[in-house]
Amino acid sequence: MHYLSTRGGIAPIGFSDAVMMGLANDGGLLMPAEIPHIDAATLQTWSTLRFQELALEVMTPFIGADIPRSDLRMLIERAYAHFTHPEITPVVDVGTLKILELFHGPTAAFKDVALQFLGNLFEYLLARTGGKLNIIGATSGDTGSAAIDGVRGKAGIEIFILHPKGRVSPIQERQMTTVQDANVHNIAVHGTFDDAQNIVKALFNDLPFKAAYQLGAVNSINWARILAQTVYYFYAWGRVTGGDISRRLNFAVPTGNFGDVFAGHLARRMGLPIDRLIIATNRNDILTRFVHTGIYASGDTVHQTISPAMDIQIASNFERYLYDLYAGDATQIRALLADFQQTGRLTIDAQHHQQVQTDFAARAATDIETLAQIQATAADSGYILCPHTAVGVHAAHGQPDCVCLATAHPAKFNDAVCNAIGHEAPLPLSLQGLMEKEPRCIALPATVAAIKAHLEATLIPIAS
Ligand SMILES: *Cc1c(COP(=O)(O)O)cnc(C)c1O
Repeated sequence: MHYLSTRGGIAPIGFSDAVMMGLANDGGLLMPAEIPHIDAATLQTWSTLRFQELALEVMTPFIGADIPRSDLRMLIERAYAHFTHPEITPVVDVGTLKILELFHGPTAAFKDVALQFLGNLFEYLLARTGGKLNIIGATSGDTGSAAIDGVRGKAGIEIFILHPKGRVSPIQERQMTTVQDANVHNIAVHGTFDDAQNIVKALFNDLPFKAAYQLGAVNSINWARILAQTVYYFYAWGRVTGGDISRRLNFAVPTGNFGDVFAGHLARRMGLPIDRLIIATNRNDILTRFVHTGIYASGDTVHQTISPAMDIQIASNFERYLYDLYAGDATQIRALLADFQQTGRLTIDAQHHQQVQTDFAARAATDIETLAQIQATAADSGYILCPHTAVGVHAAHGQPDCVCLATAHPAKFNDAVCNAIGHEAPLPLSLQGLMEKEPRCIALPATVAAIKAHLEATLIPIAS
C-alpha cells in the first residue's frame, strides 16, 4: 500500500515511512492511495474474532509487506496487553442504548487504543533503522498522559510533555508526572496551555533544530492512529449484529479533531454496513455547522466547556475527509484550503454537500444539555457517562440502531459528574493510588529559549 498527501506534494511512500513522517512534508495529511474493500463473507468471518485478531485483519491491507504478519501480530498483542477489559473495547447495553466503551486502557481514555499501538510501532520501526525519536508535545491535561503511557520505557524514544503549571486537574497532573520511566520528561511551564503549544510550534518551525534533535509529534494526524481506531467500529458491528450483513448501524461520535469519526468513515468506505456517523460536538461546533450548511468556518474563539478534549477551533483530520469527498483531487483540496487560510471559511458545492448529509448527521450540545444527559442516563439506568460521551448520547437521540462511543471514563471528569448527579464516579483501578505516588516534573519559564536549553542539555544532537 502506498500513501499520498492530501495536497499532492509528495512522491508515494510506504506505510512505515508514512508513520514516521506524521504530517506530510508538504503540510498535507497522508492518505492511502486506495481504500481496500472487504466483502460480505469476510465481514461475517471477522464478526467472531477477538479484538486483537480483528485488528490484525483490518490493518494488514494498509500495511502490506512493510511489516511481516507475525511481527504485526506481536505489536498488536503488546499494545493491548495492558487493557483492563478482556474484550478491549466492549459494547454494553445501557437501557435501550448501546455504549462502545473505549476507556479500558492504561489512562482511561479512548486515545489509549491508538497510542498504545503507536508507541509499540514507533519502537519497532526505529529498531529496524537504528533511528531515534524525540517526541515533544503540549497538553491541556487530557492527551498528555495517553501519549506518555504509549511510549514509556520504549527503546529509542524520549518524550517531553509540556503542561501549564497548576492549570491541569490534580489527577491529570499525577497521571503524567508519576510515570517513573527514564525516557519520560514532564515540564510544567509557568504559563497557559496556549503558551506551551506556541513553544512546541516554534520548536517544530525551527527546522535545523528539529532535524538535529530528531523531534517528532504524536498528535492525532498520524495515519497509524486512524488505522488503530478503525478496528473498534468493525468490532462493535460484529458484536451488535452477530455478523448479519443486512444490519446497518449508526454511530454517535464525540468529536474534536475528527480523528475518531474519520476512522468510522474509513470503516464504512471499506464496506462495513454503517449508515450514518453522528458527529457530536460541544459549543465548539465548527463541524456541526459544516454538516448543516456546507460551510466550514472557524469561530471567533475556542470556548472552554466541560468536555475539554473537544474544545477545538479547527479539526485537524477534517482535510482527510475533504480529500476523500473530492475523490482524491489534491488540486481542489489546495484551492479549498487556500480559501480557508485567507478568509477563515471554505464552502463546498451543493452536490458534495448532499453527500456530506448522507454520510453524517451532526448535533451540538451545550454544557447544560451535557449535564442534563449525564443526569438522565444515570437516573434511567444507573450508568454514569463522562461529559464527552454524554455529548454523543445527546446527539444520538431519535436515531435507531445507534452505537454511542464512550471516549473517557467518567471518573476522569468527576467535577462535571458531581455537578450532574451529586456524587463522584468510582475510580477505575488504573487511576487509584495516584495521589500517593511520587511526582517527577521540572518547572521552567514559558519561553522558547528555556525549553530549547533544556532539550539541548538533555539530548545528544545527531551529527549533520
Ligand atoms: C480526543 C478526545 C475526543 C475527540 O476525538 P477526536 O478524534 O479528536 O475527534 C473525544 N473525547 C475524549 C475523551 C477525547 O480524549
